[in-house]
Amino acid sequence: MTSRKKSDELFHRASVKIPGAVNSPVRAWKAVGAAPIFIESGSGATLIDADGNAFLDYVCSYGPAILGHAHPRVTQAIAEQSRLGLGFGAPTRLEVELAELISSAIECAQKVRLVTSGTEAGLTALRLARAATGRTNIIKFDGCYHGHSDSMLVRAGSGAMTFGQPDSGGVPSAVAAMTMVARYNSIETVEGLFRAAPEKIAAVIVEPVAANMGVVNPDPGSLKVLAEIAHANGALLICDEVISGFRLCFGSIAESMGVAPDLIMLGKIIGGGMPVGAIAGPAKIMDLLAPVGPVYQAGTLS
Ligand SMILES: *Cc1c(COP(=O)(O)O)cnc(C)c1O
Repeated sequence: MTSRKKSDELFHRASVKIPGAVNSPVRAWKAVGAAPIFIESGSGATLIDADGNAFLDYVCSYGPAILGHAHPRVTQAIAEQSRLGLGFGAPTRLEVELAELISSAIECAQKVRLVTSGTEAGLTALRLARAATGRTNIIKFDGCYHGHSDSMLVRAGSGAMTFGQPDSGGVPSAVAAMTMVARYNSIETVEGLFRAAPEKIAAVIVEPVAANMGVVNPDPGSLKVLAEIAHANGALLICDEVISGFRLCFGSIAESMGVAPDLIMLGKIIGGGMPVGAIAGPAKIMDLLAPVGPVYQAGTLS
Protein backbone atom coordinates (compact mmCIF):
# COMPACT_ATOMS: atom_id res chain seq x y z
CA MET A 1 0.00 0.00 0.00
CA THR A 2 1.67 3.18 -1.17
CA SER A 3 -0.33 5.69 0.84
CA ARG A 4 -3.36 5.91 3.09
CA LYS A 5 -3.48 9.66 3.41
CA LYS A 6 -6.93 10.12 1.88
CA SER A 7 -8.40 7.16 3.76
CA ASP A 8 -7.09 8.64 7.00
CA GLU A 9 -8.58 12.05 6.14
CA LEU A 10 -11.94 10.44 5.40
CA PHE A 11 -11.73 8.43 8.61
CA HIS A 12 -11.24 11.60 10.65
CA ARG A 13 -14.10 13.38 8.90
CA ALA A 14 -16.30 10.31 9.32
CA SER A 15 -15.46 10.06 13.02
CA VAL A 16 -16.96 13.51 13.59
CA LYS A 17 -20.34 12.74 12.04
CA ILE A 18 -20.81 8.97 12.15
CA PRO A 19 -20.53 6.94 15.38
CA GLY A 20 -17.21 5.12 15.15
CA ALA A 21 -16.89 6.44 11.56
CA VAL A 22 -18.83 3.49 10.14
CA ASN A 23 -22.41 2.49 9.38
CA SER A 24 -21.90 -1.13 10.45
CA PRO A 25 -19.52 -2.03 13.29
CA VAL A 26 -17.26 -4.63 11.63
CA ARG A 27 -16.18 -2.02 9.08
CA ALA A 28 -14.29 -0.22 11.85
CA TRP A 29 -11.65 -2.98 11.65
CA LYS A 30 -11.37 -3.30 15.43
CA ALA A 31 -10.16 -6.88 14.93
CA VAL A 32 -7.68 -5.76 12.27
CA GLY A 33 -6.12 -3.21 14.61
CA ALA A 34 -5.91 -0.41 12.05
CA ALA A 35 -8.16 2.39 10.82
CA PRO A 36 -10.28 1.18 7.88
CA ILE A 37 -9.48 2.09 4.31
CA PHE A 38 -12.20 3.90 2.37
CA ILE A 39 -13.21 2.32 -0.92
CA GLU A 40 -13.66 4.39 -4.05
CA SER A 41 -14.67 1.68 -6.51
CA GLY A 42 -14.73 -2.01 -7.27
CA SER A 43 -14.44 -3.96 -10.50
CA GLY A 44 -14.57 -7.75 -10.62
CA ALA A 45 -12.36 -9.00 -7.79
CA THR A 46 -10.44 -5.73 -7.42
CA LEU A 47 -11.09 -2.82 -5.07
CA ILE A 48 -9.57 0.64 -5.41
CA ASP A 49 -9.32 2.78 -2.28
CA ALA A 50 -9.42 6.54 -1.89
CA ASP A 51 -5.63 6.76 -2.34
CA GLY A 52 -5.67 4.70 -5.56
CA ASN A 53 -4.33 1.49 -3.98
CA ALA A 54 -5.62 -1.72 -5.58
CA PHE A 55 -6.67 -4.75 -3.50
CA LEU A 56 -7.81 -8.27 -4.24
CA ASP A 57 -11.23 -8.41 -2.55
CA TYR A 58 -11.81 -11.40 -0.26
CA VAL A 59 -14.67 -9.67 1.59
CA CYS A 60 -17.11 -9.51 -1.35
CA SER A 61 -19.36 -7.13 0.59
CA TYR A 62 -19.68 -9.92 3.24
CA GLY A 63 -21.43 -12.13 0.74
CA PRO A 64 -23.58 -10.21 -1.74
CA ALA A 65 -20.86 -9.61 -4.37
CA ILE A 66 -20.78 -13.19 -5.64
CA LEU A 67 -20.51 -11.92 -9.23
CA GLY A 68 -17.73 -9.52 -8.35
CA HIS A 69 -18.13 -5.77 -8.43
CA ALA A 70 -19.80 -3.79 -11.21
CA HIS A 71 -20.42 -6.63 -13.64
CA PRO A 72 -21.42 -4.89 -16.90
CA ARG A 73 -24.73 -6.78 -17.19
CA VAL A 74 -25.65 -5.86 -13.64
CA THR A 75 -24.74 -2.19 -13.96
CA GLN A 76 -26.62 -2.00 -17.26
CA ALA A 77 -29.75 -3.50 -15.72
CA ILE A 78 -29.57 -1.08 -12.79
CA ALA A 79 -29.00 1.92 -15.08
CA GLU A 80 -31.96 0.94 -17.27
CA GLN A 81 -34.28 0.45 -14.32
CA SER A 82 -33.20 3.70 -12.63
CA ARG A 83 -34.45 5.57 -15.70
CA LEU A 84 -37.86 3.96 -15.14
CA GLY A 85 -38.02 4.95 -11.47
CA LEU A 86 -36.86 3.26 -8.29
CA GLY A 87 -39.92 2.67 -6.17
CA PHE A 88 -43.56 3.50 -6.44
CA GLY A 89 -45.31 2.44 -3.26
CA ALA A 90 -47.12 0.03 -5.55
CA PRO A 91 -46.38 -3.50 -6.71
CA THR A 92 -44.22 -4.14 -9.79
CA ARG A 93 -43.58 -6.96 -12.30
CA LEU A 94 -39.96 -7.33 -11.15
CA GLU A 95 -41.04 -8.30 -7.62
CA VAL A 96 -43.22 -11.05 -9.07
CA GLU A 97 -40.33 -12.30 -11.18
CA LEU A 98 -37.91 -12.35 -8.23
CA ALA A 99 -40.43 -14.20 -6.03
CA GLU A 100 -41.01 -16.73 -8.84
CA LEU A 101 -37.26 -17.20 -9.32
CA ILE A 102 -36.66 -17.81 -5.60
CA SER A 103 -39.64 -20.16 -5.47
CA SER A 104 -38.41 -22.12 -8.48
CA ALA A 105 -35.00 -22.61 -6.81
CA ILE A 106 -36.24 -23.50 -3.30
CA GLU A 107 -38.96 -26.11 -2.93
CA CYS A 108 -40.25 -25.01 0.49
CA ALA A 109 -40.50 -21.40 -0.74
CA GLN A 110 -44.09 -21.65 -1.91
CA LYS A 111 -44.58 -18.02 -0.99
CA VAL A 112 -42.03 -15.24 -0.62
CA ARG A 113 -42.17 -11.85 1.12
CA LEU A 114 -39.41 -9.47 0.05
CA VAL A 115 -37.84 -7.15 2.64
CA THR A 116 -34.73 -4.97 2.73
CA SER A 117 -32.27 -6.88 4.94
CA GLY A 118 -31.46 -10.18 6.56
CA THR A 119 -32.28 -8.65 9.93
CA GLU A 120 -35.79 -7.86 8.75
CA ALA A 121 -36.19 -11.36 7.34
CA GLY A 122 -35.24 -12.69 10.78
CA LEU A 123 -37.59 -10.60 12.83
CA THR A 124 -40.46 -11.45 10.48
CA ALA A 125 -39.58 -15.16 10.65
CA LEU A 126 -39.74 -15.10 14.44
CA ARG A 127 -43.04 -13.21 14.46
CA LEU A 128 -44.52 -15.71 12.00
CA ALA A 129 -43.28 -18.68 14.02
CA ARG A 130 -44.78 -17.23 17.21
CA ALA A 131 -48.09 -16.56 15.49
CA ALA A 132 -48.18 -19.99 13.83
CA THR A 133 -47.54 -21.85 17.10
CA GLY A 134 -49.03 -19.49 19.69
CA ARG A 135 -45.77 -19.85 21.66
CA THR A 136 -43.15 -17.32 22.76
CA ASN A 137 -39.68 -18.89 23.10
CA ILE A 138 -37.03 -19.33 20.43
CA ILE A 139 -33.99 -21.62 20.46
CA LYS A 140 -30.89 -20.24 18.77
CA PHE A 141 -27.33 -21.51 18.69
CA ASP A 142 -24.38 -19.85 20.37
CA GLY A 143 -22.27 -18.22 17.66
CA CYS A 144 -24.98 -18.10 15.00
CA TYR A 145 -25.86 -14.60 13.79
CA HIS A 146 -29.38 -13.76 12.70
CA GLY A 147 -29.26 -9.98 12.39
CA HIS A 148 -29.60 -7.35 15.08
CA SER A 149 -33.22 -7.70 16.21
CA ASP A 150 -33.62 -7.61 20.01
CA SER A 151 -34.36 -11.27 20.50
CA MET A 152 -31.44 -12.43 18.35
CA LEU A 153 -28.75 -10.39 20.15
CA VAL A 154 -28.46 -13.02 22.79
CA ARG A 155 -25.72 -15.51 23.60
CA ALA A 156 -25.32 -18.29 26.09
CA GLY A 157 -24.07 -17.67 29.58
CA SER A 158 -21.21 -19.80 30.84
CA GLY A 159 -23.11 -23.05 30.38
CA ALA A 160 -24.79 -23.65 27.04
CA MET A 161 -28.16 -24.71 28.42
CA THR A 162 -29.07 -21.41 30.00
CA PHE A 163 -31.69 -18.82 29.28
CA GLY A 164 -30.37 -15.96 27.21
CA GLN A 165 -28.53 -12.93 28.46
CA PRO A 166 -28.68 -9.83 26.26
CA ASP A 167 -25.53 -9.35 24.21
CA SER A 168 -26.19 -5.67 23.54
CA GLY A 169 -27.16 -2.63 25.52
CA GLY A 170 -30.80 -1.65 25.07
CA VAL A 171 -32.16 -5.19 24.84
CA PRO A 172 -34.67 -5.74 27.68
CA SER A 173 -33.83 -8.81 29.72
CA ALA A 174 -37.51 -9.82 29.42
CA VAL A 175 -37.01 -10.10 25.65
CA ALA A 176 -33.67 -11.90 25.97
CA ALA A 177 -35.23 -14.37 28.40
CA MET A 178 -37.44 -15.69 25.60
CA THR A 179 -34.36 -16.67 23.60
CA MET A 180 -32.84 -19.98 24.67
CA VAL A 181 -29.34 -20.81 23.55
CA ALA A 182 -28.10 -24.22 22.46
CA ARG A 183 -24.63 -25.32 21.38
CA TYR A 184 -24.02 -25.73 17.65
CA ASN A 185 -23.78 -29.40 16.66
CA SER A 186 -25.07 -30.47 20.06
CA ILE A 187 -28.45 -32.12 19.70
CA GLU A 188 -28.41 -32.90 23.45
CA THR A 189 -28.46 -29.20 24.35
CA VAL A 190 -31.48 -28.72 22.07
CA GLU A 191 -33.30 -31.67 23.65
CA GLY A 192 -32.46 -30.25 27.08
CA LEU A 193 -34.04 -26.91 26.21
CA PHE A 194 -37.20 -28.58 24.90
CA ARG A 195 -37.41 -30.54 28.16
CA ALA A 196 -36.85 -27.36 30.18
CA ALA A 197 -39.68 -25.45 28.47
CA PRO A 198 -42.21 -27.89 27.04
CA GLU A 199 -44.93 -26.34 24.84
CA LYS A 200 -43.22 -22.95 25.05
CA ILE A 201 -40.83 -23.07 22.12
CA ALA A 202 -42.10 -21.62 18.85
CA ALA A 203 -39.04 -22.29 16.71
CA VAL A 204 -35.46 -23.39 16.42
CA ILE A 205 -33.48 -20.96 14.27
CA VAL A 206 -30.20 -22.10 12.77
CA GLU A 207 -27.59 -21.33 10.13
CA PRO A 208 -27.51 -24.69 8.25
CA VAL A 209 -23.79 -24.05 7.72
CA ALA A 210 -22.61 -21.66 10.42
CA ALA A 211 -20.70 -18.77 8.86
CA ASN A 212 -20.52 -16.11 11.53
CA MET A 213 -18.08 -17.83 13.92
CA GLY A 214 -15.72 -18.92 11.22
CA VAL A 215 -17.28 -21.59 9.00
CA VAL A 216 -18.62 -24.55 10.97
CA ASN A 217 -20.19 -27.41 9.08
CA PRO A 218 -23.15 -29.18 10.65
CA ASP A 219 -22.45 -32.76 11.72
CA PRO A 220 -23.70 -35.07 8.95
CA GLY A 221 -27.43 -35.65 9.36
CA SER A 222 -27.75 -33.24 12.31
CA LEU A 223 -29.99 -30.76 10.52
CA LYS A 224 -32.47 -33.53 9.78
CA VAL A 225 -32.45 -34.59 13.42
CA LEU A 226 -32.95 -30.97 14.45
CA ALA A 227 -36.02 -30.70 12.20
CA GLU A 228 -37.41 -33.94 13.67
CA ILE A 229 -36.92 -32.79 17.27
CA ALA A 230 -38.48 -29.39 16.55
CA HIS A 231 -41.50 -30.98 14.85
CA ALA A 232 -41.92 -33.65 17.52
CA ASN A 233 -42.18 -30.79 20.03
CA GLY A 234 -44.62 -28.73 17.96
CA ALA A 235 -42.01 -26.12 16.98
CA LEU A 236 -40.90 -24.84 13.59
CA LEU A 237 -37.44 -25.04 12.04
CA ILE A 238 -36.25 -21.69 10.66
CA CYS A 239 -33.19 -21.95 8.42
CA ASP A 240 -31.27 -18.71 8.20
CA GLU A 241 -29.78 -18.86 4.71
CA VAL A 242 -28.98 -15.16 4.49
CA ILE A 243 -25.35 -16.03 3.80
CA SER A 244 -25.58 -19.67 2.61
CA GLY A 245 -28.53 -19.24 0.25
CA PHE A 246 -27.58 -19.05 -3.45
CA ARG A 247 -23.93 -19.23 -2.40
CA LEU A 248 -23.22 -22.84 -1.40
CA CYS A 249 -25.66 -23.95 -4.10
CA PHE A 250 -28.26 -22.31 -6.32
CA GLY A 251 -31.06 -22.20 -3.77
CA SER A 252 -31.11 -23.61 -0.23
CA ILE A 253 -28.25 -25.60 1.30
CA ALA A 254 -30.69 -27.04 3.88
CA GLU A 255 -32.80 -28.52 1.10
CA SER A 256 -29.70 -29.93 -0.55
CA MET A 257 -29.09 -31.75 2.78
CA GLY A 258 -32.59 -33.24 2.53
CA VAL A 259 -34.28 -30.92 5.04
CA ALA A 260 -37.36 -28.82 4.27
CA PRO A 261 -37.29 -25.77 6.55
CA ASP A 262 -40.64 -24.42 7.77
CA LEU A 263 -39.34 -20.92 7.10
CA ILE A 264 -36.27 -19.77 5.27
CA MET A 265 -34.50 -16.42 5.52
CA LEU A 266 -32.60 -14.98 2.57
CA GLY A 267 -30.59 -11.80 2.02
CA LYS A 268 -27.13 -10.84 0.84
CA ILE A 269 -26.78 -12.57 -2.55
CA ILE A 270 -30.43 -12.26 -3.62
CA GLY A 271 -29.90 -8.48 -3.70
CA GLY A 272 -26.63 -8.74 -5.62
CA GLY A 273 -25.24 -5.78 -3.66
CA MET A 274 -28.48 -3.92 -3.10
CA PRO A 275 -30.51 -4.07 0.11
CA VAL A 276 -32.85 -7.04 -0.39
CA GLY A 277 -33.89 -9.80 1.97
CA ALA A 278 -36.67 -12.35 1.90
CA ILE A 279 -38.68 -14.63 4.10
CA ALA A 280 -40.18 -17.66 2.43
CA GLY A 281 -42.05 -20.83 3.28
CA PRO A 282 -45.18 -22.88 2.78
CA ALA A 283 -48.35 -20.95 1.92
CA LYS A 284 -50.09 -22.01 5.13
CA ILE A 285 -47.48 -20.18 7.23
CA MET A 286 -46.70 -17.30 4.85
CA ASP A 287 -50.39 -16.47 4.46
CA LEU A 288 -50.43 -15.49 8.13
CA LEU A 289 -48.78 -12.27 6.92
CA ALA A 290 -50.83 -9.11 6.44
CA PRO A 291 -52.83 -8.30 4.41
CA VAL A 292 -54.06 -11.92 4.30
CA GLY A 293 -53.47 -12.83 7.94
CA PRO A 294 -53.00 -11.20 11.35
CA VAL A 295 -49.15 -10.92 11.38
CA TYR A 296 -48.13 -7.38 10.53
CA GLN A 297 -45.05 -6.72 8.42
CA ALA A 298 -44.42 -3.86 6.01
CA GLY A 299 -41.73 -1.78 4.31
CA THR A 300 -41.81 1.48 2.34
CA LEU A 301 -38.93 0.30 0.13
CA SER A 302 -39.59 -3.44 0.31
C1 LIG B 1 -25.55 -11.18 7.34
C2 LIG B 1 -26.43 -12.11 8.05
C3 LIG B 1 -27.66 -11.69 8.61
C4 LIG B 1 -28.08 -10.25 8.68
O1 LIG B 1 -28.32 -9.69 7.43
P1 LIG B 1 -28.31 -8.08 7.29
O2 LIG B 1 -28.71 -7.85 5.87
O3 LIG B 1 -26.92 -7.65 7.63
O4 LIG B 1 -29.33 -7.56 8.25
C5 LIG B 1 -28.50 -12.65 9.17
N1 LIG B 1 -28.15 -13.95 9.17
C6 LIG B 1 -26.99 -14.39 8.64
C7 LIG B 1 -26.69 -15.85 8.67
C8 LIG B 1 -26.09 -13.49 8.09
O5 LIG B 1 -24.92 -13.94 7.62
